[in-house]
Amino acid sequence: MPPTPTPALSSSLPPVLPAHRQLFYGGEWHEAERGASWELFSPGDGTALGPCADASDRDVDAAVRAADTAFRQWRDTPPFERARVLRHAADVIRRHRDELALIDAYDGGNAITPMSGDIEAAAQQLEFFAGLITQVKGETIPMGSGRFNFTLRQPLGVVARIGAFNHPVMFSAGKVAAPLAAGNTVIVKPPEQAPLSTLRLAELWNDVFPRGVFNVVTGHGNETGEALVRHPGVAKIGLIGSIVAGRAVMKAASDTLKPVLLELGGKNALIGFPDSDLPALADAIVAGMNFAWCGQSCGSTSRVFLHEAIHDQVLAAVLQRLPEFKPGLPQLSATTMGAIVDARQHQRILEYIEHGKREGATLAYGGRVPDDPALSKGLFVMPTIFSDVTADMRIAREEIFGPVLSVLRWNDEEAVISQVNALEYGLTCSIWTNDLSTALRTAERIEAGYVWVNEVGRHFLSAPFGGFKQSSTGREECFDELIGFTQTKNVHVRFRGAVAR
Ligand code: NAD
Repeated sequence: MPPTPTPALSSSLPPVLPAHRQLFYGGEWHEAERGASWELFSPGDGTALGPCADASDRDVDAAVRAADTAFRQWRDTPPFERARVLRHAADVIRRHRDELALIDAYDGGNAITPMSGDIEAAAQQLEFFAGLITQVKGETIPMGSGRFNFTLRQPLGVVARIGAFNHPVMFSAGKVAAPLAAGNTVIVKPPEQAPLSTLRLAELWNDVFPRGVFNVVTGHGNETGEALVRHPGVAKIGLIGSIVAGRAVMKAASDTLKPVLLELGGKNALIGFPDSDLPALADAIVAGMNFAWCGQSCGSTSRVFLHEAIHDQVLAAVLQRLPEFKPGLPQLSATTMGAIVDARQHQRILEYIEHGKREGATLAYGGRVPDDPALSKGLFVMPTIFSDVTADMRIAREEIFGPVLSVLRWNDEEAVISQVNALEYGLTCSIWTNDLSTALRTAERIEAGYVWVNEVGRHFLSAPFGGFKQSSTGREECFDELIGFTQTKNVHVRFRGAVAR
């Protein structure tokens, strides 16, 4: 049966959205097999955003073949030329910053003004890995006279990058930087809730990368991602997502023994010691929750442990700061807090709020949908704070991935560290104290991969980002990420006439 063309897009759609809704591979747009697609809606106000192609196993196979053909040329491209292309890609997204942020605001619900920072972050990742390109070096191994032994670092082949919904364009544009710099070709599978910025990226980068180097397959549900993981022609999977997805990907990848780089969830702690700078601590508690994207950030410090000597004062200061975050339409530049990405996630967050109330925590702020009639068609939740939370409550143990902060009281350092370390997660932790010994003693003992002292939320390119325990299996935003997309080849040379031994 010939594929049915993607339906013409309605002229009532927001004007910034991408014109193409098909799959992008081999430098061209392709209808999904049998024309399969699903419809997208804006979580802010329910606006219909048009269709998106739903890739089958056969579509994925065609994309892998196109990326594999391109790999042979891209891996042989001189490193400085690859670096030039990556820098050009960064320039292009910077020039289209507002437009890309607006697409993510419509499609994923995050407020446009804070979202603009995501495009700059992605551009910096492209430039960072472009700058490291000649550091993908091998070694020489001493062999004695008459023999020469060295290693080469070579790319893996076709790599798949599967992204989460909370920072769609940042993940699609930034997470291709390391594998592309190393000489791999990449297939991106954006999140089904917000794929449009990645399609726009493919439009913008069509003339930037050689055909087949950057490819995009979209899909509704997990099937498209699963097809990439199963495919024998895909050499490595990079997944940003939940622990549940991480487990499924690791299991499925074992059939082809492909390596996986998993960046997963967190239920991150912020610990306030009594000697902290209290106003700065209150600011950090609010900033660390990432209310601007409704708490939908893996690194959000959603468990706050306040020493009893400062608990009441700091909690009061935090509550005073919260009115700054008022849910609003994501596409408006004045909005400080956007919408929840979809109805399933919205429902899940509201259920966690009910758990918190039932388990006996005190609802100190929010805990409901906003009553602003202008938001009645969207998926919003007020910034929410529970106090009197205890470590056994679900809201203290499970990742909610919503704007819900749990505040716990402590008075014993041993006990608080063991509570912080009690979970299967171990992504980030923020420690607040003005005593160096306390800071370093705590940082040493905390089971998390990314620890801030008197700082929160920020990432620093070249500082390895990733988690302990079930939060991740590798490190990103650093040299390790680049090297992780290479493999070592050892070459041993015996000189003519060398003495046998
Ligand atoms: P999710 O796990 O539902 O989906 C993430 C991506 O994986 C999507 O593209 C989805 O289609 C795909 N996927 C799901 N199951 C799959 C499977 N079996 N095989 C292949 N692909 C599969 O996550 P989400 O709801 O989009 O994102 C929220 C989660 O992501 C949270 O747990 C959050 O903490 C985590 N996250 C982690 C980081 C990090 O760097 N550690 C960053 C952002 C988000």
